[in-house]
Amino acid sequence: MSTFLGMPELPVAPRGVGHLRGAEPFPAAARSALADSQLRRNLAKATTTIRAKRARVVGELPDWEELREAGRAIKAHTMASLDGYLEQLEGEFTARGGTVHWAGDAVEANQIVTDLVRAAGASEVVKVKSIVTDEIGLNDALAGAGISAVETDLAELIVQLGKDRPSHFLVPAIHRNRAEIREIFLREMRDVDPSLTDEPRALAEAARLHLRRKFLSAEVGISGANFAVAETGTLCVVESEGNGRMCLTLPRTLITVMGIEKVVPSWSDLGVFLQLLPRSSTGERMNPYTSMWSGVTPGDGPQQVHLVLLDNGRTAALADEVGRPALHCIRCSACLNVCPVYERVGGHAYGSVYPGPIGAVLSPLLTGVEDNASLPFASSLCGACYDACPVKIDIPSILVHLRARHVEEAARASRVPDAEAITMAAAAWTMSDPRRFAAAQRGGRIGRLFGRKGKIRRLPPPLSGWSRARDVPVPPARTFRQWWQREHRSPP
Ligand code: SF4
Repeated sequence: MSTFLGMPELPVAPRGVGHLRGAEPFPAAARSALADSQLRRNLAKATTTIRAKRARVVGELPDWEELREAGRAIKAHTMASLDGYLEQLEGEFTARGGTVHWAGDAVEANQIVTDLVRAAGASEVVKVKSIVTDEIGLNDALAGAGISAVETDLAELIVQLGKDRPSHFLVPAIHRNRAEIREIFLREMRDVDPSLTDEPRALAEAARLHLRRKFLSAEVGISGANFAVAETGTLCVVESEGNGRMCLTLPRTLITVMGIEKVVPSWSDLGVFLQLLPRSSTGERMNPYTSMWSGVTPGDGPQQVHLVLLDNGRTAALADEVGRPALHCIRCSACLNVCPVYERVGGHAYGSVYPGPIGAVLSPLLTGVEDNASLPFASSLCGACYDACPVKIDIPSILVHLRARHVEEAARASRVPDAEAITMAAAAWTMSDPRRFAAAQRGGRIGRLFGRKGKIRRLPPPLSGWSRARDVPVPPARTFRQWWQREHRSPP
């Protein structure tokens, strides 16, 4: 039984499960990404376009701020009673012919899905775009069991065929341009027309022909869920292409993997999010395809319907009062598109399936801060993400909170203070006494000898880490105190 939620058979997830653990610390990964000028061009073009679309449709609604506040309040209320709503969801979904499974971590979730696919006698499954199945590494787990998973969302298909990783929630192949996509299709799709051009319509048609055979032969479909309505046990997937709906309706068995935070109490609550999500993500007034199902309908659609409810670190995040709102995220990607850091380095630099500002807080909360320790520092704290978020998640405050948690945990783990701790202690000692501070300012002017054109390019250790990515301004010829004394002829 989970200690926090009090639900049966839901152990708190072990840390670092799935594919969430940062592959390479953010500073090193960001440096390589910044050197890729094609990547930066692709990102700048895509994020600028999506930002403009979002701004246009959000500006149409006079009650946008009230909607945001309603979204925030519904999520906060749901998190406060999450155990009750999950039990209600389980009861309603089961009563309508579905089966609910509880998974404490990625390993458990993958095993449940693999067993279900085997029980259906399938060796291939079709998938609706789903970040949570990326989180648990489901495709690799299925491949290990001899089952191939076919991504059917166009962008996810590009990522899969390119043996790549998604870099954006909404546009997983945002880092690829049309010419690169054409090359991938020609290389990886055996049945593609060799005269394929890089026109969007031609690329979409090639993908459509490739996927059609998969849809018609698939015995099992796998999806995530954007929302689940507790009062009727209804699952909801929103998407733009219609491929998701084929996966949700054609196979005989449908398996949905959903993070436990996706439940909402009622249909009227769902109505709020169905207004917030499309405007914030694709810049549309409503989603082109919104699919909902509640258990099994005899003779229509999948006859075996399963829901895997996944913890994988979520109860630990829920127990962190400052970090908890990160679980309110509806994965719209608005914060990614406005983030100056994301726009320059892209999603791969974050080393996690959750990139951008929300990834910088959600990943460390799910895995434990030390497994993604560099991510809370991958931000300028400009606050653009907070302003854009449709459910008003105060990401900058959570970033600061996680930075503090990292410093505390690192200090606890090490008996010897590191260079940063020594520097901060020395700064505190110096600044706590006016005479020491004045002496330090006078001493600091020696830095003028090392500056060029008003900047010092490199500081000596232990300050060298700070100047590795920044210029240090040359200290002024006079300190503020000296200026004040001269102007006022008395000390401040
Ligand atoms: S944190 Fe907010 S803006 Fe970012 S993806 Fe989640 S809901 Fe969207």
